[in-house]
Amino acid sequence: MSEETIRPILLNPGPVTLTDRVRQSLASIDLCHREPEFAALILDIKARLLRVYPEAESGYEAIVLSGSGTLAVEAMMQSLVPADGKVLTLANGVYGERIDDMLATSKKRSLIVKAAWPDPMDLAAAERLLRDDPEITHVAAVHNETTTGRLNDLDALGALCRRYRKPLLLDAVSSFGGERIAFEDWNIAALATTANKCLHAAPGLCCVIARRALLENRGEDRSPAASIYLDLFRYHQSQKKGFSPYTMTTHAAVALREALCEMQQGGGWQARHARYRELSDRLRKELAAFGIGRFLAEEDYCSMISSFSLPEGYDYDTLHDALKREGFVIYAGQGGLFHSIFRIANMGAISDADADRLLGVFRRLMTTAPASARKGQAGDGR
Ligand SMILES: *Cc1c(COP(=O)(O)O)cnc(C)c1O
Repeated sequence: MSEETIRPILLNPGPVTLTDRVRQSLASIDLCHREPEFAALILDIKARLLRVYPEAESGYEAIVLSGSGTLAVEAMMQSLVPADGKVLTLANGVYGERIDDMLATSKKRSLIVKAAWPDPMDLAAAERLLRDDPEITHVAAVHNETTTGRLNDLDALGALCRRYRKPLLLDAVSSFGGERIAFEDWNIAALATTANKCLHAAPGLCCVIARRALLENRGEDRSPAASIYLDLFRYHQSQKKGFSPYTMTTHAAVALREALCEMQQGGGWQARHARYRELSDRLRKELAAFGIGRFLAEEDYCSMISSFSLPEGYDYDTLHDALKREGFVIYAGQGGLFHSIFRIANMGAISDADADRLLGVFRRLMTTAPASARKGQAGDGR
């Protein structure tokens, strides 16, 4: 089958297409998570994660967890919001709403300021609540709202957090390593991220970066975390020496170190950001020329993903399948956006030649008869 011989290019928002170097490292060695060589690996990963944004090195600590990005976000909320806390969450997409669901599930007090998914965060409503409700202890938000590709205005939200002295808990799952992050200016108490998005490693590990003082302040006898497995205080104590309370995804750790080395050698987050911008600007511009319009205003996009209106004559599945046959995996809109948009992420090992070929496939699809006109023909699959 020709489909199997094409190296798939993942244009979904993680896991990403790995470089050969990182993929090969996955198969390089088997390690026991209780041995000193694995502990040394984790200590090295922790240091390299902080070094991605050198501003974080003095006051913050990285904690490495096995799981996907959602696990890191949930560990952050379960551990760092105390039982008597009250969180104000700003949401304009799936991931902001998920934070509020986590708080509700763990019966923590929460308020949510929801904006429509295509819109910016509602900062005015958030400010009214911060002014009128003295019980709010924390603010939570999403940096890149991957639902639409919007880069949320963290400079403005961070200024609010500083003015009202509220620590910020940030879902940076799809921005860490690809966007500017201002730890002090945004009053970041902690952020959550994952190995398999802008860091270009394999899925299996995620990370919380939190103020060291916060992690040290765990109370006398009992951790304030509302979970055993997601207890960051417990992880922090044992990861000081590189060990973790539970079994880690050891192969994914080897790959994460390799990916962090590769990133640093390639010019760090700034170089990655510039490359993402180059690719995503090109995609939006050239797809517009084929009649495929972007979903947000140009200046609203983050660097790692773009959302587009589904072209005339195509539903998502038809477009997905046509591109998949050529070796490209695109991504659907979530929830109510499934029928109106599709998304293309541009993280991972995507070369200019890959982008040329992708645009060539789109050009061909858009200049031949729309898919709907071919429906029902033999071989049309759906
Ligand atoms: C990918 C992502 C997550 C986590 O999703 P997982 O499927 O658990 O990896 C959380 N927040 C944002 C903004 C994301 O893009």
